[in-house]
Amino acid sequence: VLEMNHVEKSFNEQNVLRDISLSVKEGEILSVIGPSGSGKSTLLRCATLLEQMDKGELFYLGEKAAWNGSDGTTVYAKKEKLKEIQKNYGLVFQNFNLFPHMTVLNNIIDAPIHVQKRSKEDAIKEATELLQKMGLADKADAYPCQLSGGQCQRVAIARALALNPKILFFDEPTSALDPELTGEVLKVIKSLADLHIAMVIVTHEMAFARDISDRVIFMAEGVIVEEGTPEEVFASNNVRTQNFLGRYG
Ligand code: ATP
Ligand code: MG
Repeated sequence: VLEMNHVEKSFNEQNVLRDISLSVKEGEILSVIGPSGSGKSTLLRCATLLEQMDKGELFYLGEKAAWNGSDGTTVYAKKEKLKEIQKNYGLVFQNFNLFPHMTVLNNIIDAPIHVQKRSKEDAIKEATELLQKMGLADKADAYPCQLSGGQCQRVAIARALALNPKILFFDEPTSALDPELTGEVLKVIKSLADLHIAMVIVTHEMAFARDISDRVIFMAEGVIVEEGTPEEVFASNNVRTQNFLGRYG
């Protein structure tokens, strides 16, 4: 569902992504781990068109979102095309980004109604089911400020799911949460595995990455140092990988 080829990205002479290539298949769960500053968020931001790549290609479901032009730098598809492509994926950030003035239910149905032009009735029905799945059936009429961080994050996940994405991106979905709330969010993400939605998860939760992933990428200083099954990466002989994992016990 996603393919990135030879992606390069610099900020003020600093090469943050250096020749990054990766692909994610339908229903596949890919975790991205690595030290702070290694470029993980930048990679997600490039994949989701929040940031422009300097070089490289980006495909969703075989559709070209970006490619290398004749001068070797990235050319993006037209706005309309990119809008179509964006319908394939959803994003969940560290800080939830819910609309504070809207109830939980309205947060979830807003885009299905206004972007996807679905009927309100239909959107409410699906949102109610999603809230149930997230264990939040009783919070539909609450406002984000009345929820715990873990509950907010579960609403953010429900909101992303309401658009029926083929692929969901998570950027450290639990790093803003107290340890006791982290478990409930990880459990919900794990429960999505049955939905057969591909997921790319940037996380510092090593046990979780090991448990949930089909594949793990270890990044350092803007390059993919290692890529493999959780068994391969977590048992790696690579010194950098070992050093990093050692710090996480
Ligand atoms: P963390 O685990 O702390 O979230 P990360 O792996 O997500 O780290 P990035 O946020 O991708 O790392 O940042 C990689 C590097 O790019 C850092 O050195 C950062 O300072 C730099 N960087 C990221 N975004 C920008 C920006 N908009 N302008 C300038 N430099 C940036
Ligand atoms: Mg980051």
